[in-house]
Amino acid sequence: MIAENLKRIKGELPENVVLVAVSKTKPIEDLKIAFDTGQRIFGENKVQEMVSKSELLSKEIQWHFIGHLQRNKVKFLAPFVSLIHGVESIRLLKEINKQAAKNKRIIEVLLQFYIADEESKFGLTLEEAIAILASDDYKDLQNICVRGVMGMATYSSDQEKIRNEFKALHHIHKTLKNQFFSGEETFDVISMGMSGDFQLAIEEGSNMVRIGSTIFGSRN
Ligand SMILES: *Cc1c(COP(=O)(O)O)cnc(C)c1O
Repeated sequence: MIAENLKRIKGELPENVVLVAVSKTKPIEDLKIAFDTGQRIFGENKVQEMVSKSELLSKEIQWHFIGHLQRNKVKFLAPFVSLIHGVESIRLLKEINKQAAKNKRIIEVLLQFYIADEESKFGLTLEEAIAILASDDYKDLQNICVRGVMGMATYSSDQEKIRNEFKALHHIHKTLKNQFFSGEETFDVISMGMSGDFQLAIEEGSNMVRIGSTIFGSRN
């Protein structure tokens, strides 16, 4: 089923949209099936789980961290993480920068925005992001590259509501690009859309979707 699900979803995605296969809680065997089907980007939301899986699987895999990252755990991811989706403070950015430097790398990150109206979700407001990007602290960070924005819509059956939240994130991306990254091609990622809402997200400008249960089946 995993191989079939993956192929079907791949077939539905426009060429410019990157698929992150969200494999959190799923066993190594499931990831191997996805890998053998051609999938190379996997998303995890627990540091320890991502580290253990990365040690057991191909070095070709690009690991995306999509969860809430605690500063004291950045060091475990820094040697190999490919993209950190959920950054929402200058303190976390500084720690990622420090650990990236120790590993002689540049780590790519996305700024996470609060677009839903659910207390369980978190992220920056546009104003907070502007304050970070305009700060001297940020300008000193040589070992990170901010590649774009990430957000999660409200868990709801109200399509218009979800659409408006995705529109808001697209607008945030555009605003920040104009203000801080104009002429820089690296600020190009809009990570939005999950199993239940990725088609809507793509219609609203997403170019990176994070899909778990539709590929691997529901989680416990
Ligand atoms: C779990 C998770 C997903 C995938 O969710 P599905 O509904 O299973 O596709 C996407 N993004 C984040 C941040 C997640 O935590």
